[in-house]
Amino acid sequence: YPPERVRNFSIIAHVDHGKSTLADRLLELTGTIQKGHGQPQYLDKLQVERERGITVKAQTATMFYRHITASQDSDAPKYLLNLIDTPGHVDFSYEVSRSLAACQGALLVVDAAQGVQAQTIANFYLAFESNLSIIPVINKIDQPTADPDNVKDQLKRLFDIDPSEALLTSAKTGKGLEQVLPAVIERIPSPPGKCDSPVRMLLLDSYYDEYKGVICHVAVVDGALRKGDKIASAATGRSYEVLDVGIMHPELTPTGVLYTGQVGYVISGMRSTKEARIGDTLHQAKITVEPLPGFKPAKHMVFSGLYPADGSDFEALSHAIEKLTCNDASVSVTKETSNALGMGFRCGFLGLLHMDVFHQRLEQEYGAQVISTIPTVPYIFEYGDGSKVQVENPAALASNPGKRVTACWEPTVIATIIIPSEYVGPVIMLCSERRGEQLEYTFIDAQRALLKYQLPLKEIIVDFYNELKGITSGYATFDYEDSEYQQSDLVKMDILLNGQPVDAMSTIVHNQKAQRVGKELVEKLKKFIERQMFEITIQAAIGSKVIARET
Ligand code: GDP
Ligand code: MG
Repeated sequence: YPPERVRNFSIIAHVDHGKSTLADRLLELTGTIQKGHGQPQYLDKLQVERERGITVKAQTATMFYRHITASQDSDAPKYLLNLIDTPGHVDFSYEVSRSLAACQGALLVVDAAQGVQAQTIANFYLAFESNLSIIPVINKIDQPTADPDNVKDQLKRLFDIDPSEALLTSAKTGKGLEQVLPAVIERIPSPPGKCDSPVRMLLLDSYYDEYKGVICHVAVVDGALRKGDKIASAATGRSYEVLDVGIMHPELTPTGVLYTGQVGYVISGMRSTKEARIGDTLHQAKITVEPLPGFKPAKHMVFSGLYPADGSDFEALSHAIEKLTCNDASVSVTKETSNALGMGFRCGFLGLLHMDVFHQRLEQEYGAQVISTIPTVPYIFEYGDGSKVQVENPAALASNPGKRVTACWEPTVIATIIIPSEYVGPVIMLCSERRGEQLEYTFIDAQRALLKYQLPLKEIIVDFYNELKGITSGYATFDYEDSEYQQSDLVKMDILLNGQPVDAMSTIVHNQKAQRVGKELVEKLKKFIERQMFEITIQAAIGSKVIARET
């Protein structure tokens, strides 16, 4: 397949709008998987993905499709299509942008009844900024409340998409699906790249397989990659021999070669995924090449301590975390020790759902019992001597008692919220109570409003989404992107039991909220601690000043 007959595309959408179902249908339509294989959402392989019905890890599959146009008969040329399914959830936009780097186009799926939602907007801009050709797909037209014309108006108003470009489909009944692949072939450009240059490819993803070792997913940008070739990593300088190469069809299928523009897998004797850095350029060994533009490195925005529920299980937890991070390199891990919980780990995550999913996988896939501490965000503190430190563990601030804090900064996000207009009032209240600053307030159609706020990240990582869902009867959709650090009046609050600080419960709070947060925390703790024969004082303190107390 020369590049002219290759198309690389992904499917992007708000969660639940039908990406994975549409992917299934396209795989069936091309005979890549059997119809009724008994496992819906074929590409969602992880147990957590099946349980939660969400896609966490982007998966790729290659399909072959004969493109028949009016002037051609059954000799019509066959095309090689690489479909890259992407997660739609806020936390995984890192995975989304990674997938998009290997594509020239994207299907933007929008639910015909729900219309454009918060993640539709975020995903559209990711694709738009990557210069992808975007094919709008209005899905679920079989629903009684479907209103495709309204969705077309929204797409025009928000993204300047011509209504005539939209495909109307039902991934459930199959209606309209026959238009999708012809549109992919006709509207998405073939991959650029020089066929006769030395091989150069982008490392999209890697994972560890017990039998095969490290498996890398790659997009071949220039040249061809053959079994037996010697390749090198631009990041580490190490070289490898290609032991196996092929496509995901949808299982690993050896082909012996990948040509310019193709997406597939490579096995090359790498021993650990640490050697396979996502975003790295792999190229023909013994020559120097211009590395491809990599990805934005994953930014850890939420940190939490993870401790074995039973202190003696430290080794088991350590082993489980090591195995899991082999397949999820986006988690950062450092050892830490707490006087209350013993030895454990401080882990950094892309967001709250990411943290939850990691936690759940630890328990389900590795049988680890885990206690996690209150999540926190990376703050920056400046001391009197001008030094600045990033604080990922509030307890760690205590180790600098001699140093005076002169300034602090906290990360903020730009949040996009879409709601039916009757909920605008309560949502504005919630955002201002969370120290948010309004940036935008517009209507996307007659019933729906779009609000944009700049909010401190700390304010949205605990309970924000639940409260937002609660006050809007479940109608609000929410997405956010990282924004700048903002100077803020922050203090460290300790919790003391009988005068002894419990390091695992220290938090960093905004000065004006400290009193209330402290009061709520000690009240909660009082209910939580069983009645004792003797008196226990529970105190919240800032430095040596007690701000709340229960007995
Ligand atoms: P994703 O989160 O975007 O991957 O969405 P899924 O593919 O997991 O679909 C979410 C839900 O919508 C599932 O229950 C699907 O069965 C359902 N669904 C998908 N496509 C259609 C459709 O065209 N019509 C109807 N009525 N339901 C659909
Ligand atoms: Mg999905």
